[in-house]
Amino acid sequence: MNIDTDFAMAINGQMVTTENTLPVYNPATRSVFAQVPDASKAQLDETVSAARQAFNSWSKTSADERQAALEAYADIIEANAEGLMSLLTREQGKPRAGAEWEVFGSVAWLRAIATQRLPEEKVEETDERRVITRMTPVGVVGAIVPWNFPILLAIWKIAPALMAGCTIIVKPSPYTPLSDLKIVELAQQVFPAGVLSALSGGDELGKWMTVHPDINKIAFTGSTETGRHVMRSASDTIKRVTLELGGNDPAIVMPDVDAKAIAPQLFWAAFQNNAQFCNVTKRLYVHEDVYDEVRDALADFIAANIKVGDGTEADTDLGPIQNSMQYEKVKGYFADCHDNGYKFAIGGEIDESAPGWFVPVSLVDNPPEDSRIVTEEPFGPILPLLKWSDEADVIARANDTIYGLGASVWGNDIDAIQRIGSQLEAGTVWLNEIHQYSPFQAFGGHKQSGLGCENSLHGLMEYTNWQTTTLNKVSEIA
Ligand code: NAD
Repeated sequence: MNIDTDFAMAINGQMVTTENTLPVYNPATRSVFAQVPDASKAQLDETVSAARQAFNSWSKTSADERQAALEAYADIIEANAEGLMSLLTREQGKPRAGAEWEVFGSVAWLRAIATQRLPEEKVEETDERRVITRMTPVGVVGAIVPWNFPILLAIWKIAPALMAGCTIIVKPSPYTPLSDLKIVELAQQVFPAGVLSALSGGDELGKWMTVHPDINKIAFTGSTETGRHVMRSASDTIKRVTLELGGNDPAIVMPDVDAKAIAPQLFWAAFQNNAQFCNVTKRLYVHEDVYDEVRDALADFIAANIKVGDGTEADTDLGPIQNSMQYEKVKGYFADCHDNGYKFAIGGEIDESAPGWFVPVSLVDNPPEDSRIVTEEPFGPILPLLKWSDEADVIARANDTIYGLGASVWGNDIDAIQRIGSQLEAGTVWLNEIHQYSPFQAFGGHKQSGLGCENSLHGLMEYTNWQTTTLNKVSEIA
Protein backbone atom coordinates (compact mmCIF):
# COMPACT_ATOMS: atom_id res chain seq x y z
CA MET A 1 0.00 0.00 0.00
CA ASN A 2 1.30 3.42 -0.87
CA ILE A 3 0.19 5.65 1.96
CA ASP A 4 0.63 8.82 -0.08
CA THR A 5 -1.59 8.01 -3.04
CA ASP A 6 -4.34 5.63 -4.09
CA PHE A 7 -7.14 6.59 -1.77
CA ALA A 8 -9.98 4.10 -1.94
CA MET A 9 -13.01 3.05 0.07
CA ALA A 10 -13.20 -0.31 1.84
CA ILE A 11 -16.51 -1.92 0.91
CA ASN A 12 -17.08 -5.54 1.90
CA GLY A 13 -13.33 -6.04 2.23
CA GLN A 14 -12.57 -4.70 -1.27
CA MET A 15 -10.85 -1.41 -2.07
CA VAL A 16 -13.21 0.55 -4.34
CA THR A 17 -12.90 3.82 -6.25
CA THR A 18 -15.45 5.92 -8.14
CA GLU A 19 -15.48 7.77 -11.42
CA ASN A 20 -16.38 11.03 -9.69
CA THR A 21 -13.86 12.20 -7.16
CA LEU A 22 -13.57 15.02 -4.64
CA PRO A 23 -10.45 17.18 -4.19
CA VAL A 24 -8.51 17.30 -0.93
CA TYR A 25 -6.57 20.46 -0.06
CA ASN A 26 -3.37 21.05 1.85
CA PRO A 27 -4.42 23.96 4.11
CA ALA A 28 -0.84 25.22 4.42
CA THR A 29 -0.67 25.84 0.65
CA ARG A 30 -4.36 26.04 -0.36
CA SER A 31 -3.60 23.57 -3.14
CA VAL A 32 -5.25 20.29 -4.09
CA PHE A 33 -2.94 17.34 -3.45
CA ALA A 34 -5.21 14.29 -3.62
CA GLN A 35 -8.55 13.04 -4.87
CA VAL A 36 -10.94 10.72 -3.05
CA PRO A 37 -13.95 8.71 -4.21
CA ASP A 38 -17.38 10.28 -4.01
CA ALA A 39 -19.61 7.42 -2.84
CA SER A 40 -22.99 6.89 -4.47
CA LYS A 41 -26.20 5.91 -2.72
CA ALA A 42 -25.91 2.47 -4.31
CA GLN A 43 -22.44 2.08 -2.77
CA LEU A 44 -23.84 3.03 0.63
CA ASP A 45 -26.53 0.36 0.22
CA GLU A 46 -23.91 -2.19 -0.77
CA THR A 47 -21.73 -1.28 2.22
CA VAL A 48 -24.63 -1.46 4.66
CA SER A 49 -25.73 -4.81 3.35
CA ALA A 50 -22.18 -6.19 3.66
CA ALA A 51 -21.97 -4.78 7.20
CA ARG A 52 -25.30 -6.43 8.06
CA GLN A 53 -24.05 -9.76 6.67
CA ALA A 54 -20.77 -9.45 8.59
CA PHE A 55 -22.67 -8.58 11.77
CA ASN A 56 -24.20 -12.07 11.82
CA SER A 57 -20.82 -13.67 12.47
CA TRP A 58 -18.86 -10.80 14.11
CA SER A 59 -21.52 -10.39 16.81
CA LYS A 60 -21.07 -14.06 17.71
CA THR A 61 -17.30 -13.87 18.25
CA SER A 62 -16.08 -13.86 21.84
CA ALA A 63 -14.85 -10.73 23.58
CA ASP A 64 -11.39 -12.30 23.72
CA GLU A 65 -11.36 -12.81 19.95
CA ARG A 66 -12.43 -9.22 19.41
CA GLN A 67 -9.76 -8.01 21.82
CA ALA A 68 -7.11 -9.93 19.85
CA ALA A 69 -8.33 -8.37 16.58
CA LEU A 70 -8.31 -4.85 18.02
CA GLU A 71 -4.79 -5.38 19.37
CA ALA A 72 -3.61 -6.61 15.97
CA TYR A 73 -5.19 -3.52 14.42
CA ALA A 74 -3.37 -1.28 16.92
CA ASP A 75 -0.09 -2.96 15.93
CA ILE A 76 -0.75 -2.25 12.24
CA ILE A 77 -1.52 1.41 12.87
CA GLU A 78 1.61 1.67 15.01
CA ALA A 79 3.71 0.10 12.25
CA ASN A 80 2.33 2.67 9.79
CA ALA A 81 2.47 5.61 12.20
CA GLU A 82 5.11 7.55 10.28
CA GLY A 83 3.10 7.56 7.04
CA LEU A 84 -0.16 8.33 8.81
CA MET A 85 1.35 11.25 10.73
CA SER A 86 2.74 12.89 7.62
CA LEU A 87 -0.56 12.38 5.78
CA LEU A 88 -2.46 13.85 8.72
CA THR A 89 -0.23 16.93 8.75
CA ARG A 90 -0.71 17.46 5.03
CA GLU A 91 -4.48 17.12 4.99
CA GLN A 92 -5.33 18.55 8.42
CA GLY A 93 -2.50 21.04 8.85
CA LYS A 94 -1.48 20.11 12.40
CA PRO A 95 2.23 20.04 13.21
CA ARG A 96 4.16 16.90 14.02
CA ALA A 97 3.57 16.99 17.81
CA GLY A 98 -0.20 17.08 17.31
CA ALA A 99 -0.06 14.32 14.70
CA GLU A 100 1.99 12.14 17.07
CA TRP A 101 -0.49 12.70 19.89
CA GLU A 102 -3.35 11.74 17.61
CA VAL A 103 -1.85 8.64 15.97
CA PHE A 104 -0.22 7.16 19.08
CA GLY A 105 -3.28 8.14 21.11
CA SER A 106 -5.38 6.11 18.67
CA VAL A 107 -3.10 3.10 19.13
CA ALA A 108 -3.33 3.40 22.92
CA TRP A 109 -7.12 3.79 22.75
CA LEU A 110 -7.56 0.65 20.66
CA ARG A 111 -5.49 -1.37 23.12
CA ALA A 112 -7.29 0.02 26.16
CA ILE A 113 -10.85 -0.30 24.84
CA ALA A 114 -10.00 -3.88 23.83
CA THR A 115 -9.58 -4.75 27.54
CA GLN A 116 -13.12 -3.66 28.42
CA ARG A 117 -15.84 -6.19 29.02
CA LEU A 118 -19.57 -5.55 28.98
CA PRO A 119 -21.16 -6.34 32.33
CA GLU A 120 -23.93 -8.89 32.72
CA GLU A 121 -26.37 -8.31 35.53
CA LYS A 122 -27.92 -11.23 37.42
CA VAL A 123 -31.10 -9.60 38.64
CA GLU A 124 -32.56 -12.73 40.25
CA GLU A 125 -31.35 -16.28 40.79
CA THR A 126 -33.66 -18.35 42.95
CA ASP A 127 -35.04 -21.87 42.82
CA GLU A 128 -38.00 -20.46 40.96
CA ARG A 129 -36.60 -17.91 38.52
CA ARG A 130 -33.55 -16.62 36.80
CA VAL A 131 -33.51 -13.03 35.48
CA ILE A 132 -30.48 -11.80 33.60
CA THR A 133 -29.90 -8.49 31.87
CA ARG A 134 -27.11 -8.47 29.32
CA MET A 135 -26.03 -6.10 26.61
CA THR A 136 -26.32 -7.15 23.00
CA PRO A 137 -24.66 -5.31 20.09
CA VAL A 138 -26.90 -2.75 18.46
CA GLY A 139 -26.10 -3.83 14.87
CA VAL A 140 -24.65 -1.74 12.04
CA VAL A 141 -23.16 1.58 13.14
CA GLY A 142 -22.59 4.66 10.99
CA ALA A 143 -19.69 6.79 12.26
CA ILE A 144 -19.70 10.42 11.10
CA VAL A 145 -16.43 12.19 11.83
CA PRO A 146 -15.28 15.87 11.79
CA TRP A 147 -12.06 17.37 10.41
CA ASN A 148 -10.22 18.47 13.56
CA PHE A 149 -9.07 15.04 14.85
CA PRO A 150 -9.99 12.75 11.96
CA ILE A 151 -8.08 9.66 13.11
CA LEU A 152 -8.63 9.80 16.86
CA LEU A 153 -12.33 10.60 16.66
CA ALA A 154 -12.86 7.75 14.19
CA ILE A 155 -11.03 5.35 16.53
CA TRP A 156 -13.15 6.55 19.48
CA LYS A 157 -16.09 5.07 17.54
CA ILE A 158 -14.44 2.11 15.80
CA ALA A 159 -12.93 0.60 18.97
CA PRO A 160 -16.05 0.41 21.15
CA ALA A 161 -18.35 -0.48 18.23
CA LEU A 162 -16.22 -3.47 17.25
CA MET A 163 -15.58 -4.47 20.86
CA ALA A 164 -19.33 -4.48 21.53
CA GLY A 165 -19.83 -6.82 18.53
CA CYS A 166 -21.19 -4.26 16.06
CA THR A 167 -19.99 -3.66 12.53
CA ILE A 168 -19.23 -0.10 11.50
CA ILE A 169 -19.05 2.20 8.48
CA VAL A 170 -16.88 5.30 8.81
CA LYS A 171 -17.71 8.49 6.94
CA PRO A 172 -14.86 10.99 7.27
CA SER A 173 -15.28 14.73 6.90
CA PRO A 174 -15.01 15.74 3.22
CA TYR A 175 -12.17 18.06 4.34
CA THR A 176 -10.03 15.29 5.88
CA PRO A 177 -10.92 11.95 4.30
CA LEU A 178 -7.41 10.66 3.56
CA SER A 179 -6.15 9.39 6.90
CA ASP A 180 -9.54 7.83 7.71
CA LEU A 181 -9.59 5.98 4.37
CA LYS A 182 -6.06 4.75 5.13
CA ILE A 183 -6.77 3.51 8.65
CA VAL A 184 -9.80 1.60 7.38
CA GLU A 185 -7.80 0.19 4.46
CA LEU A 186 -5.18 -1.02 6.95
CA ALA A 187 -7.95 -2.64 9.01
CA GLN A 188 -8.81 -4.98 6.13
CA GLN A 189 -5.68 -6.99 7.04
CA VAL A 190 -7.26 -7.87 10.37
CA PHE A 191 -11.04 -7.88 10.26
CA PRO A 192 -13.35 -10.08 8.16
CA ALA A 193 -14.95 -8.42 5.11
CA GLY A 194 -17.69 -5.96 5.98
CA VAL A 195 -16.81 -5.55 9.66
CA LEU A 196 -15.12 -2.16 9.25
CA SER A 197 -15.80 -0.13 6.08
CA ALA A 198 -15.26 3.46 4.96
CA LEU A 199 -17.10 5.67 2.49
CA SER A 200 -15.92 9.11 1.42
CA GLY A 201 -18.24 11.74 0.04
CA GLY A 202 -19.90 15.02 0.85
CA ASP A 203 -22.32 16.04 3.59
CA GLU A 204 -25.12 14.34 1.57
CA LEU A 205 -23.57 10.97 2.31
CA GLY A 206 -23.90 11.72 6.02
CA LYS A 207 -27.57 12.53 5.53
CA TRP A 208 -28.18 9.29 3.63
CA MET A 209 -26.61 7.37 6.48
CA THR A 210 -28.80 9.00 9.12
CA VAL A 211 -31.98 7.93 7.29
CA HIS A 212 -30.80 4.50 6.14
CA PRO A 213 -33.23 1.87 7.43
CA ASP A 214 -30.53 -0.77 7.99
CA ILE A 215 -28.15 1.38 10.01
CA ASN A 216 -29.03 0.97 13.67
CA LYS A 217 -26.94 3.66 15.28
CA ILE A 218 -25.20 6.89 14.35
CA ALA A 219 -22.09 7.85 16.30
CA PHE A 220 -21.59 11.48 15.40
CA THR A 221 -18.98 14.11 16.23
CA GLY A 222 -19.40 17.57 14.75
CA SER A 223 -21.15 20.86 15.24
CA THR A 224 -24.31 21.33 17.28
CA GLU A 225 -26.10 22.57 14.17
CA THR A 226 -25.38 19.36 12.25
CA GLY A 227 -26.09 17.34 15.40
CA ARG A 228 -29.64 18.68 15.37
CA HIS A 229 -30.06 17.49 11.74
CA VAL A 230 -28.67 14.09 12.64
CA MET A 231 -31.06 13.69 15.56
CA ARG A 232 -34.02 14.74 13.43
CA SER A 233 -33.19 12.38 10.56
CA ALA A 234 -32.38 9.49 12.87
CA SER A 235 -35.79 9.78 14.51
CA ASP A 236 -37.65 8.27 11.54
CA THR A 237 -36.07 4.88 12.16
CA ILE A 238 -35.57 5.35 15.93
CA LYS A 239 -31.83 4.98 15.51
CA ARG A 240 -29.65 5.15 18.55
CA VAL A 241 -27.48 8.25 18.47
CA THR A 242 -24.41 9.38 20.31
CA LEU A 243 -23.79 13.06 19.63
CA GLU A 244 -20.50 14.78 20.49
CA LEU A 245 -21.12 18.39 19.54
CA GLY A 246 -19.80 21.91 19.89
CA GLY A 247 -18.62 23.69 22.99
CA ASN A 248 -17.93 27.12 24.41
CA ASP A 249 -15.77 26.04 27.33
CA PRO A 250 -15.14 28.61 30.08
CA ALA A 251 -11.94 28.72 32.14
CA ILE A 252 -12.03 30.57 35.46
CA VAL A 253 -8.75 31.96 36.77
CA MET A 254 -8.59 32.73 40.51
CA PRO A 255 -6.95 35.83 42.05
CA ASP A 256 -4.15 33.79 43.67
CA VAL A 257 -2.38 32.59 40.46
CA ASP A 258 1.13 33.53 39.41
CA ALA A 259 0.46 35.13 36.02
CA LYS A 260 3.82 34.29 34.42
CA ALA A 261 3.82 30.71 35.65
CA ILE A 262 0.29 29.96 34.48
CA ALA A 263 0.51 31.70 31.08
CA PRO A 264 1.88 28.70 29.11
CA GLN A 265 -0.81 26.42 30.54
CA LEU A 266 -3.59 28.86 29.77
CA PHE A 267 -2.16 29.36 26.30
CA TRP A 268 -2.31 25.66 25.44
CA ALA A 269 -5.71 25.37 27.13
CA ALA A 270 -7.06 27.81 24.56
CA PHE A 271 -4.94 27.21 21.45
CA GLN A 272 -4.20 23.47 21.30
CA ASN A 273 -4.79 22.19 17.73
CA ASN A 274 -4.89 25.84 16.66
CA ALA A 275 -8.11 26.19 18.68
CA GLN A 276 -9.91 23.89 16.22
CA PHE A 277 -10.88 21.73 19.12
CA CYS A 278 -14.27 21.25 20.79
CA ASN A 279 -12.65 21.37 24.22
CA VAL A 280 -10.30 24.34 24.06
CA THR A 281 -10.98 27.20 26.44
CA LYS A 282 -13.16 29.57 24.45
CA ARG A 283 -13.85 32.11 27.21
CA LEU A 284 -11.12 33.02 29.71
CA TYR A 285 -12.54 34.58 32.88
CA VAL A 286 -9.68 36.15 34.86
CA HIS A 287 -10.15 37.67 38.33
CA GLU A 288 -9.85 41.45 38.18
CA ASP A 289 -6.94 41.45 40.69
CA VAL A 290 -4.70 39.60 38.21
CA TYR A 291 -6.45 40.40 34.91
CA ASP A 292 -3.86 42.83 33.51
CA GLU A 293 -0.94 40.64 34.59
CA VAL A 294 -2.44 37.46 33.09
CA ARG A 295 -3.36 39.23 29.84
CA ASP A 296 0.14 40.68 29.49
CA ALA A 297 1.86 37.42 30.46
CA LEU A 298 -0.19 35.54 27.85
CA ALA A 299 0.58 38.11 25.15
CA ASP A 300 4.30 38.00 26.05
CA PHE A 301 4.31 34.21 25.98
CA ILE A 302 2.69 34.18 22.54
CA ALA A 303 5.02 36.84 21.14
CA ALA A 304 8.14 35.10 22.44
CA ASN A 305 7.31 31.46 21.75
CA ILE A 306 4.58 30.69 19.27
CA LYS A 307 5.16 30.22 15.57
CA VAL A 308 2.19 29.77 13.27
CA GLY A 309 3.12 28.07 10.02
CA ASP A 310 3.21 25.01 7.79
CA GLY A 311 2.93 21.93 10.01
CA THR A 312 5.68 20.18 8.06
CA GLU A 313 8.25 22.71 9.32
CA ALA A 314 9.94 21.51 12.49
CA ASP A 315 9.61 24.76 14.45
CA THR A 316 5.88 25.28 13.79
CA ASP A 317 3.72 25.34 16.92
CA LEU A 318 0.33 25.98 15.33
CA GLY A 319 -0.74 25.15 11.79
CA PRO A 320 -3.27 26.79 9.48
CA ILE A 321 -7.05 26.84 9.71
CA GLN A 322 -8.05 23.53 8.18
CA ASN A 323 -10.29 24.67 5.32
CA SER A 324 -11.53 27.70 3.44
CA MET A 325 -15.05 27.51 4.89
CA GLN A 326 -13.68 27.69 8.43
CA TYR A 327 -11.14 30.37 7.44
CA GLU A 328 -13.98 32.59 6.21
CA LYS A 329 -15.91 31.93 9.42
CA VAL A 330 -12.94 32.87 11.62
CA LYS A 331 -12.32 35.99 9.54
CA GLY A 332 -15.91 36.97 10.38
CA TYR A 333 -15.09 37.00 14.12
CA PHE A 334 -12.07 39.24 13.53
CA ALA A 335 -14.22 41.60 11.46
CA ASP A 336 -16.93 41.66 14.10
CA CYS A 337 -14.38 42.58 16.80
CA HIS A 338 -12.97 45.39 14.61
CA ASP A 339 -16.43 46.66 13.65
CA ASN A 340 -17.38 46.92 17.31
CA GLY A 341 -14.11 48.51 18.38
CA TYR A 342 -12.97 45.69 20.69
CA LYS A 343 -9.29 45.85 21.62
CA PHE A 344 -6.78 43.13 20.76
CA ALA A 345 -4.03 42.43 23.32
CA ILE A 346 -2.10 40.67 20.54
CA GLY A 347 -2.85 39.68 16.93
CA GLY A 348 -6.00 40.93 15.28
CA GLU A 349 -4.81 41.33 11.67
CA ILE A 350 -5.07 38.45 9.20
CA ASP A 351 -2.63 38.50 6.28
CA GLU A 352 -4.86 37.23 3.50
CA SER A 353 -1.97 37.02 1.05
CA ALA A 354 -0.32 34.23 3.10
CA PRO A 355 0.18 30.98 1.15
CA GLY A 356 -2.09 29.00 3.49
CA TRP A 357 -5.17 29.65 5.59
CA PHE A 358 -3.10 31.16 8.39
CA VAL A 359 -4.55 33.25 11.21
CA PRO A 360 -2.46 34.96 13.91
CA VAL A 361 -2.97 33.97 17.54
CA SER A 362 -5.21 36.72 18.91
CA LEU A 363 -6.46 37.82 22.33
CA VAL A 364 -9.51 40.06 22.60
CA ASP A 365 -9.26 42.33 25.64
CA ASN A 366 -12.43 42.23 27.76
CA PRO A 367 -15.17 42.39 25.07
CA PRO A 368 -18.83 42.61 26.19
CA GLU A 369 -20.40 39.45 27.56
CA ASP A 370 -22.99 39.42 24.77
CA SER A 371 -20.49 39.85 21.90
CA ARG A 372 -20.32 37.17 19.22
CA ILE A 373 -16.75 36.27 20.19
CA VAL A 374 -17.99 35.39 23.70
CA THR A 375 -21.33 33.73 22.94
CA GLU A 376 -20.37 31.71 19.82
CA GLU A 377 -17.82 29.01 19.06
CA PRO A 378 -15.18 30.59 16.78
CA PHE A 379 -13.19 27.35 16.29
CA GLY A 380 -10.06 29.32 15.48
CA PRO A 381 -7.20 31.07 17.35
CA ILE A 382 -9.05 34.08 18.73
CA LEU A 383 -9.77 34.12 22.46
CA PRO A 384 -11.80 36.60 24.54
CA LEU A 385 -10.41 37.48 28.00
CA LEU A 386 -13.06 38.61 30.47
CA LYS A 387 -12.85 40.15 33.94
CA TRP A 388 -14.64 38.85 37.02
CA SER A 389 -14.86 39.86 40.67
CA ASP A 390 -17.80 38.02 42.24
CA GLU A 391 -17.78 34.21 42.48
CA ALA A 392 -21.52 33.64 42.04
CA ASP A 393 -21.55 36.05 39.11
CA VAL A 394 -18.69 34.35 37.25
CA ILE A 395 -20.29 30.93 37.73
CA ALA A 396 -23.55 32.27 36.30
CA ARG A 397 -21.70 33.80 33.34
CA ALA A 398 -19.75 30.59 32.73
CA ASN A 399 -23.01 28.61 32.67
CA ASP A 400 -24.92 31.12 30.57
CA THR A 401 -24.59 29.22 27.28
CA ILE A 402 -26.42 26.55 25.30
CA TYR A 403 -23.20 24.52 25.48
CA GLY A 404 -21.93 22.30 28.29
CA LEU A 405 -18.95 20.37 27.00
CA GLY A 406 -15.96 21.19 29.23
CA ALA A 407 -14.82 23.77 31.76
CA SER A 408 -11.75 24.43 33.88
CA VAL A 409 -10.83 26.31 37.05
CA TRP A 410 -7.30 27.42 37.90
CA GLY A 411 -5.99 28.53 41.31
CA ASN A 412 -4.04 27.66 44.44
CA ASP A 413 -6.98 27.50 46.85
CA ILE A 414 -8.04 23.90 46.26
CA ASP A 415 -11.29 24.24 48.22
CA ALA A 416 -12.29 27.27 46.17
CA ILE A 417 -11.59 25.69 42.78
CA GLN A 418 -13.48 22.53 43.77
CA ARG A 419 -16.40 24.61 45.05
CA ILE A 420 -16.59 26.52 41.77
CA GLY A 421 -15.96 23.44 39.63
CA SER A 422 -18.84 21.56 41.20
CA GLN A 423 -21.26 24.29 40.08
CA LEU A 424 -20.23 24.32 36.41
CA GLU A 425 -22.59 22.77 33.88
CA ALA A 426 -20.24 20.69 31.76
CA GLY A 427 -19.50 17.05 30.93
CA THR A 428 -15.87 17.40 31.97
CA VAL A 429 -14.57 19.82 34.60
CA TRP A 430 -10.79 20.07 34.85
CA LEU A 431 -9.20 21.62 37.95
CA ASN A 432 -5.66 22.98 37.56
CA GLU A 433 -5.20 20.96 34.38
CA ILE A 434 -6.93 20.50 31.06
CA HIS A 435 -7.36 18.09 28.14
CA GLN A 436 -6.68 15.04 30.27
CA TYR A 437 -8.61 12.24 28.56
CA SER A 438 -8.63 8.52 29.15
CA PRO A 439 -10.25 5.52 27.48
CA PHE A 440 -11.67 4.75 30.95
CA GLN A 441 -13.08 8.23 31.58
CA ALA A 442 -16.58 9.11 30.31
CA PHE A 443 -16.52 12.02 27.88
CA GLY A 444 -19.58 13.85 26.61
CA GLY A 445 -21.55 17.06 26.63
CA HIS A 446 -24.30 18.51 28.78
CA LYS A 447 -27.03 20.69 27.28
CA GLN A 448 -26.63 21.22 23.51
CA SER A 449 -23.04 19.92 23.51
CA GLY A 450 -24.25 16.41 23.03
CA LEU A 451 -26.12 13.31 23.95
CA GLY A 452 -24.57 10.23 25.51
CA CYS A 453 -20.84 9.76 25.88
CA GLU A 454 -17.74 8.21 24.42
CA ASN A 455 -15.03 6.27 26.25
CA SER A 456 -15.34 4.29 29.51
CA LEU A 457 -17.71 1.39 30.04
CA HIS A 458 -20.59 3.85 29.61
CA GLY A 459 -19.33 4.67 26.12
CA LEU A 460 -18.99 0.98 25.25
CA MET A 461 -22.55 0.34 26.45
CA GLU A 462 -23.84 2.94 23.98
CA TYR A 463 -23.18 0.38 21.24
CA THR A 464 -25.60 -2.09 22.82
CA ASN A 465 -29.22 -2.69 23.65
CA TRP A 466 -30.34 -3.99 27.01
CA GLN A 467 -31.79 -7.47 26.85
CA THR A 468 -33.49 -8.99 29.85
CA THR A 469 -34.13 -12.74 29.83
CA THR A 470 -36.33 -14.36 32.42
CA LEU A 471 -36.58 -18.10 33.06
CA ASN A 472 -39.43 -19.63 35.00
CA LYS A 473 -37.80 -22.72 36.51
CA VAL A 474 -40.92 -24.23 38.06
CA SER A 475 -43.89 -23.94 35.76
CA GLU A 476 -44.78 -27.07 33.89
CA ILE A 477 -45.24 -26.13 30.26
CA ALA A 478 -44.95 -29.46 28.51
P1 NAD B 1 -19.78 19.49 10.93
O1 NAD B 1 -20.97 19.34 11.81
O2 NAD B 1 -19.78 20.49 9.86
O3 NAD B 1 -19.45 18.09 10.22
C1 NAD B 1 -19.25 16.89 10.93
C2 NAD B 1 -19.55 15.72 10.03
O4 NAD B 1 -20.94 15.70 9.72
C3 NAD B 1 -18.82 15.73 8.69
O5 NAD B 1 -18.38 14.41 8.42
C4 NAD B 1 -19.90 16.17 7.72
O6 NAD B 1 -19.69 15.72 6.40
C5 NAD B 1 -21.13 15.52 8.32
N1 NAD B 1 -22.42 16.13 7.97
C6 NAD B 1 -22.66 17.40 7.54
N2 NAD B 1 -23.99 17.60 7.37
C7 NAD B 1 -24.60 16.44 7.70
C8 NAD B 1 -25.96 16.01 7.78
N3 NAD B 1 -26.98 16.83 7.47
N4 NAD B 1 -26.22 14.76 8.20
C9 NAD B 1 -25.22 13.92 8.56
N5 NAD B 1 -23.91 14.26 8.50
C10 NAD B 1 -23.60 15.51 8.09
O7 NAD B 1 -18.57 19.69 11.96
P2 NAD B 1 -17.04 20.04 11.64
O8 NAD B 1 -16.98 21.45 11.15
O9 NAD B 1 -16.44 18.93 10.82
O10 NAD B 1 -16.39 19.95 13.10
C11 NAD B 1 -16.32 21.03 13.97
C12 NAD B 1 -17.39 20.93 15.04
O11 NAD B 1 -17.30 19.68 15.70
C13 NAD B 1 -17.23 21.97 16.13
O12 NAD B 1 -18.49 22.49 16.48
C14 NAD B 1 -16.65 21.19 17.29
O13 NAD B 1 -16.88 21.74 18.56
C15 NAD B 1 -17.31 19.86 17.11
N6 NAD B 1 -16.54 18.81 17.75
C16 NAD B 1 -17.06 18.20 18.85
C17 NAD B 1 -16.33 17.22 19.51
C18 NAD B 1 -16.89 16.53 20.71
O14 NAD B 1 -16.39 15.47 21.04
N7 NAD B 1 -17.89 17.06 21.39
C19 NAD B 1 -15.07 16.86 19.04
C20 NAD B 1 -14.57 17.50 17.91
C21 NAD B 1 -15.33 18.47 17.27
